[in-house]
Amino acid sequence: MRKIRFGIDIDGTVTCPTSLLPHINAHFGCNLVLDDIKEYDLTKAFPVDEKEFYEWYRQTETTIYAASPAQEYAKMILSEWQEHYELYYISARGLNVAECTFDWFERQGIPYDHIELIGSHYKIETAKKFKVDAFFEDKYDNAVEIHEELNIPVLLFDTPYNRGPIPEGVIRVKSWQEADKWIKELFPIEEKVN
Ligand SMILES: [Mg+2]
Repeated sequence: MRKIRFGIDIDGTVTCPTSLLPHINAHFGCNLVLDDIKEYDLTKAFPVDEKEFYEWYRQTETTIYAASPAQEYAKMILSEWQEHYELYYISARGLNVAECTFDWFERQGIPYDHIELIGSHYKIETAKKFKVDAFFEDKYDNAVEIHEELNIPVLLFDTPYNRGPIPEGVIRVKSWQEADKWIKELFPIEEKVN
């Protein structure tokens, strides 16, 4: 029997949703905190030209990803999960940051079975292809769509930018510890009997 397989977003899910803010604040001379980010699109949070922002982002993303802190308890819980479940990271990052992404997982000591960088926020086809049994996200519309299309539980990591109404089957969690409790309920680990 194959293991239960999880599809896991990286940015804002495994990494802290605040990871970008010090870089934005330093470059654009603002003082944003997470509560200021009410929409996934960061250019809505402060006065900036969209084109200028994304140009800067493209030039800086490797630096940002390399310096991103992991969320509290992510390493501990994912390490425990890897013994029982398969961990497939599915990210909107592009292949241009593949090396820095793999380096980050190695440096952080966060386990993975597979990392897929799709270069697009549209994750449904990839989640289907890999037949994931549950998904972990911080992007509101992705969470709802993946749940509706695949009919699998999606754990939505709560942030000020994803607080829309959610259907049953999308589970809002505030921490990796809370995610762990849900997962143990949804996919109980069978104790090995000798
Ligand atoms: Mg994300």
